[in-house]
Amino acid sequence: MEKITSQESPLIDTPTTNLQRETEDECKPYFIDTKKLTKNQIDHLRELGVVSNEYDKSFPLSEYICLLRSKHLDYLQRSLLPKESYCLSKSFISLDASKPWIIYWCLQPLDLLGAMDTDGVSSSIAASSTLPVPTTPFLKEDSLIGIVHTLESCWMDIPHRLQDVDSCCYTCLFGDSDDDDMSIQDMPTQCLGGGYGGGPGQLPHCATSYAAILSLCIVAGCDTYHYPLATKLAQEVLFRKRKPLYLWFLSLQCSYPYIPDTVAYCMHHDGEIDVRATYTVLCMASLLNILTPALTRGVLPFIASCQTYEGGFGGEPHAEAHGGYTYCALAALRLLTASPMSCSSSTHCIHHQKESSSLSPNTTSHDLLSRNIDLDALKGWLVFKQKTLEGGFAGRTNKLVDGCYSFWLGASIALLNIIEKCYESSHGENYGIVYDAGIQEQNEFWISHSSFEDNEQKNNSYSHHAMETSLPTMGCDKDELLFDRTMLQRYILLCCQDLNGGLRDKPSKPRDFYHSCYVLSGLSTSEHVLRSTNGDDSFPVYGDCKQNLIFATHPVYNIRLKHVQQAFERLHNMVK
Ligand SMILES: [Zn+2]
Repeated sequence: MEKITSQESPLIDTPTTNLQRETEDECKPYFIDTKKLTKNQIDHLRELGVVSNEYDKSFPLSEYICLLRSKHLDYLQRSLLPKESYCLSKSFISLDASKPWIIYWCLQPLDLLGAMDTDGVSSSIAASSTLPVPTTPFLKEDSLIGIVHTLESCWMDIPHRLQDVDSCCYTCLFGDSDDDDMSIQDMPTQCLGGGYGGGPGQLPHCATSYAAILSLCIVAGCDTYHYPLATKLAQEVLFRKRKPLYLWFLSLQCSYPYIPDTVAYCMHHDGEIDVRATYTVLCMASLLNILTPALTRGVLPFIASCQTYEGGFGGEPHAEAHGGYTYCALAALRLLTASPMSCSSSTHCIHHQKESSSLSPNTTSHDLLSRNIDLDALKGWLVFKQKTLEGGFAGRTNKLVDGCYSFWLGASIALLNIIEKCYESSHGENYGIVYDAGIQEQNEFWISHSSFEDNEQKNNSYSHHAMETSLPTMGCDKDELLFDRTMLQRYILLCCQDLNGGLRDKPSKPRDFYHSCYVLSGLSTSEHVLRSTNGDDSFPVYGDCKQNLIFATHPVYNIRLKHVQQAFERLHNMVK
């Protein structure tokens, strides 16, 4: 849309530089100078929905670029319909062991687009068509009930030898004298944990369990007026699965060979040990309010050992730095350092309080991290993953831009940014909080969810002033986020949208659910995180504000803020 900065030619051509050049050539047509477009061409873009119907030629065309909300909603909701109504194509057979993932990859972007909110979706549909404003949410309750049943069918109990269950943690989480529940003293050495596999009868796996728990938290956190049965069902499942998941998590602990005194997790029994497993376990445990010292002890040094000489994190020690693993490492570090004692204040567990007090009240996340991680190297590695011409992120050094890293890299930078911001503004972060940081910080560094919803009612208050300037300067004066939001959003809106709905890696790649999820999650992060409030209601949104502003996702859990908050409140209250 704006001037294209020319890239310096490399000294020598290699397969890598050739591929990079081809990718730039692939993206450049999407960034053409819109002043050169003819009226017919603009009309065509309007018909496609890429340019808003409200286009006024006295303003730059880039202000009217649209997220194809209704097309994305339609693409994403089909996979969640009952099989009598819609069947995924046979090519999906290779994803048979990824059922919870498919659910999460569709549900999270649907949720960000407001598919389960009457207000959220109405504004998008009303803006793009002449349809009357719907009074019911876009997604039917049956779809959400179907999701819970499908996830239930992926659950597997798994007996394993019980080792070192921390009796104190266990007792304070699950009680010790229930008739139905076995106390720790009575437990046989064989105990029954469990988790979610990729499909019925499949081995429990951290990745699919993570997708399942996130999906259940989304369903459980929907509004109970429109989804009375689905929310209740999901809440019951979440509560029922806490204990077997806790036991299963403990059974996944292991020490990483050659790195003494560290604790890591494996993806499944006898599975690979890596930083994904660590993040997914901590993330699920945090949401379920079972993140005890028994799960966190010794984990930080393992994550630290995954940082590479480049500054990013690999999946395991000595592996190449990678955007996905770096996200896992940073989000896990955030969970470890920001909310270490999730149950200490809900119970009176002496053990927890003792460990809790070993962290000085003046110790911040930043202090803990800077002692263990090379934060400057990490920051350097992260920021150089944003491509100068395309505006999106690459996942590794010398790799190509890919839409999914809008979240993996965007949220990583946001997390590091938030940690540093906290440090600067309040040296002495509050420990012992039940809510994860992010929730706690959102009032200051995030817009709070309620104020976001308020804002969504006031369409007229959306300010276009932030987009009047050309691309490189939008919001830069006061923007403290360490990546260029405008460049990223431009890449997402112009290069990652399939005109028939769904989002993709880059223009030459087909749409898919995975990219739809992470491209939109990246869009959400770039619209909300560290937004400079300055007392006005404007959001740093590229293109048409009404169409393109989506709900805020939490950078640690990657579900909407309200679901994180509700999960904490619900599961906190349920703890005995
Ligand atoms: Zn990708």
